[in-house]
Order: sequence, then C-alpha cells, then structure tokens
Amino acid sequence: MAGSSAWAWLDGEYLPWAEAKIHVRTECVMRGGSVFEGVPGYWSAAQGDLFLFRLEAHMRRLEASMRVMRMQLPYSLAVLENVVSELVRRCDFREDIHVRPTVYFGVGSAFGFKPAEIEVGAFVTATPMPRVEGRAEAGIRMAVSSWTRNSEANQPPRVKASGSYLNGRFAQVQAVVDGYDGAILLSRAGHVAEGPAACLMMVRGGVISTPRLSDGILDSITRSTLIECLGRELELRVEARAIDRTELYIADELFECGSGHEITPIVAVDRFPVGDGRVGPVTRRTMELYRRIVRGEMTQYRSWLTPVYRTAD
Ligand code: PMP
Repeated sequence: MAGSSAWAWLDGEYLPWAEAKIHVRTECVMRGGSVFEGVPGYWSAAQGDLFLFRLEAHMRRLEASMRVMRMQLPYSLAVLENVVSELVRRCDFREDIHVRPTVYFGVGSAFGFKPAEIEVGAFVTATPMPRVEGRAEAGIRMAVSSWTRNSEANQPPRVKASGSYLNGRFAQVQAVVDGYDGAILLSRAGHVAEGPAACLMMVRGGVISTPRLSDGILDSITRSTLIECLGRELELRVEARAIDRTELYIADELFECGSGHEITPIVAVDRFPVGDGRVGPVTRRTMELYRRIVRGEMTQYRSWLTPVYRTAD
C-alpha cells in the first residue's frame, strides 16, 4: 500500500501532519525568514527502494543559505539529514516524492533582526512529487516577465530563502493570469535568469547554454548535474554564459531543470514557437538520461542516491 504525508517532523518531534504547527508571531511567518531545500525522491519498483537524489548537496546548500542568513541551529545539520530518510520511512512512501527540510527563524525580539536574540527551529515535510499532468509530454508555454529577477544586490538568489520566492510569485501569477504556463525572469541587466522555481537550458546549433550563476539564479543542483553528465553521457557541451532574451526566440530547443520541475520542455516563449514548437531530440535525450540517473539505473551515479529502505544492496 502506498504511503502518505501522515507525519511531519518539527523541532525534534515526529508529529501527525495536522499537528505540525508554528506560531503566527514567528519571523518566518511575519517576514519570510526561513531557508529550505526541495529534495526529490524517486521510487524504483524494480529495485524496491526509494532514492533521495543528491541529499548531501542539498544539505550543503541549506548550510550555505543558513550561513548567509546568520542562522544557527542549536544542533548539527546531520540531525536534519537523518530525519529526511526517517520521515520518508515513517510515511512509508512508495512513489516519487518531494521532501522539504526547512530552517526557520522563530519568535524573537521586538523587531527580530538580531540573530542572537531569536530562536532558530527546523521542520521537515514530505509529499508526493507535485507534477502537472501532460507537461513533460507536451511541454509548456512561457512568457518573459516584465518583473525582473532578484539580484545579489538586493535578495541574493543563491540563498534559498522563502521570502525571496515572492519575486518569482509576481512573475508566475502574472504569466498565468495572462494565459501562459509559466514565466522566465530576466536580470536587471537584461540577461535571461531563470524561472520562479527552475533553471533554464537552451539548445542552439548543437550547443547547450545555461545562464551564469551571476545572472541571478539559484545554484541549482539539477543544473550542476546536467552540466556534469550531459557532456560525458551524451557528448553534448554545456556552457554557462550570458543569454539574451532574443536568443530564446530563435533557440532550437529550450527546457527547464530543477528538483521539482525535473526536465520540462518549453515549446513556446512569448508566443514564438521554440524550434518547430514540439519537444526536441536533445530535450528528450536529457529527460531520459535524468530519469535513468535518478532512478538508480546508472551505477556510476549511485553515490548520488540515498536509498531510504535499503532493500536494494
Ligand atoms: N531556481 C529556483 C528559484 C528554484 O526554486 C529551484 C528549485 N529548487 C531551482 C532554480 C532549481 O534548483 P534545483 O535543481 O537545486 O532544484
């Protein structure tokens, strides 16, 4: 029988989902003061196990976000890392999932800006992977947003803070209201940055390009995975460089990549069809490669997988 999000972990305790609550007067509620990760987990029926993908890299990025935010947990992050696996076991998931370890600022002094005077807590939740049916097969239609991406000069995109997600929300809501599936944000300098919750890769003339980290993007783990594996496995070169908006209009192929969005083909931008308007061959090969890596079908990448039930080996 498949599991469910019956349990959550909050500040040291496993609690029934409905009881995992924090106070309204916390910094995370009042001013978006929390940092988090979205760790994907893949169920392999063939291997009878669920694999968390690149858990260690996610925990390292969480640590980096905490450091820049000057957040200090009263215990080691290894505790949270263990909770991620234990929570999945408790929930008994046997399907693809999305786990969200979060570190938050709690109740503090009057204005909440002195890190030493404020509690720091953590929680972890796990849910089935949120997928929108048909997107991976048919692709999505995007709008370049008139909202620009946060930058290192205001809300550093490297820090995965919940408050920073309001930037992507403005763009995404506008795009959806205007009849698109999603938004692409540009940097203030006019370069292509990323989507509200995923990075971008563009194929032109057989070369794959992706925006640079300094163009206002999250240091995406899926992006790094593809940069590392596409060259080696598919002999496709990936270069990180500044990308102009108009390149999107003349690209051969375009796709999103991220732990939640996985590899999602983009088939139109601002109503220009991308290539011939259908999912292209490089995108398809990338989707298949990513699928095989995350499901434990490529032994050379097994060290990226944390088996939760450990029935496989
Ligand atoms: N950019 C943003 C703003 C995101 O929220 C995400 C999802 N975490 C990504 C990019 C993709 O990052 P990752 O591959 O690490 O999930």
